Amino acid sequence: MIVAMQEKASEEQIQAVIERLVELGFEVHRSTGKLQTVLGAVGARVDFDIRDLEVMDGVKEVHRISSPYKLVARSFRPEGTTVKLRNGVSIGGQDVVVMAGPCSVESREQLFTIAEIVSKAGARILRGGAFKPRTSPYSFQGLGEEGLKLLKEAGEKFGLLVISEVMEISQIPLMEPYVDIYQVGARNMQNFNLLRELGKARKPVMLKRGIAATIEEMLLSAEYMMAGGNYELILCERGIRTFETYTRNTLDISAIPIVHKLSHLPITADPSHGTGRRDKVSPMARAAVAAGADAVIVEVHHQPDKALSDGAQSLFPEQFSKLMDELRMIAPAVGRKIA
Ligand code: PEP
Ligand code: MN
Repeated sequence: MIVAMQEKASEEQIQAVIERLVELGFEVHRSTGKLQTVLGAVGARVDFDIRDLEVMDGVKEVHRISSPYKLVARSFRPEGTTVKLRNGVSIGGQDVVVMAGPCSVESREQLFTIAEIVSKAGARILRGGAFKPRTSPYSFQGLGEEGLKLLKEAGEKFGLLVISEVMEISQIPLMEPYVDIYQVGARNMQNFNLLRELGKARKPVMLKRGIAATIEEMLLSAEYMMAGGNYELILCERGIRTFETYTRNTLDISAIPIVHKLSHLPITADPSHGTGRRDKVSPMARAAVAAGADAVIVEVHHQPDKALSDGAQSLFPEQFSKLMDELRMIAPAVGRKIA
């Protein structure tokens, strides 16, 4: 941490800041120039609030140079994390994994039709919400456990692994036998009680970026789960809210290389929620793979106009197959391949 003192700071004020830093466990290096004193504080401590120093008399500005997280930092595992799943599928290695399926599980017929389509096109993981976080309480809320059973059955039938959203702590053990990956939705990214419990789970978790969350906040949420002992984590950029109104969200493609620099955890891109419009999904999925995404999650529906949720952003089957063909060409250009 760097603490720059004001030009007119008194020696007492400088000493008070040094004492405070030492109290916090930092080793302090002082450099006094002609005009100003700058204090360099070195230490392993991450749990402090720089504002406590900023408000001290004589302090001009404070800059944090170390990251506020430890376990999710790239330096913790410089070689990167590969989350190994079943059927030879892993996320974070050379393969780019495609997860696809409907927004919500609506019925056996719907899910099995879509699972067959996405499996034939080359997806390895079936997505589908059984518990749905809907903005309106009057919208379809999901089939619950019945939906989970259908997901597992469809996954087994078509050779797909399963990812589904967990919305609350009580659903963790309930979902355990049915899913390969727990999905934490954007609205729950900072549900710290849920994250703490998922830290104890022995199953991978995909954490989606909150609607208005910074990359650092997303990494801190992942840190909750790693600190609890769950190292099988995947992050997901799903678009953030900006002043743009044309798209539902703004898919922050730059989050992909940034996460790869800051963290060892793999990252998925969700161009469906990231744009909210079917015709924008494939271009953004292509861009995400080109930018280094480790996985892509896409909503697909055989009858999007009849979908109970997110029909407008769901790809038609033929659009999805075409996207898979395109991704098979793009991935090798960036040293990857489609799983
Ligand atoms: C979803 O994946 O269906 C979903 C609700 O996503 P998000 O949490 O990103 O809105
Ligand atoms: Mn959706």
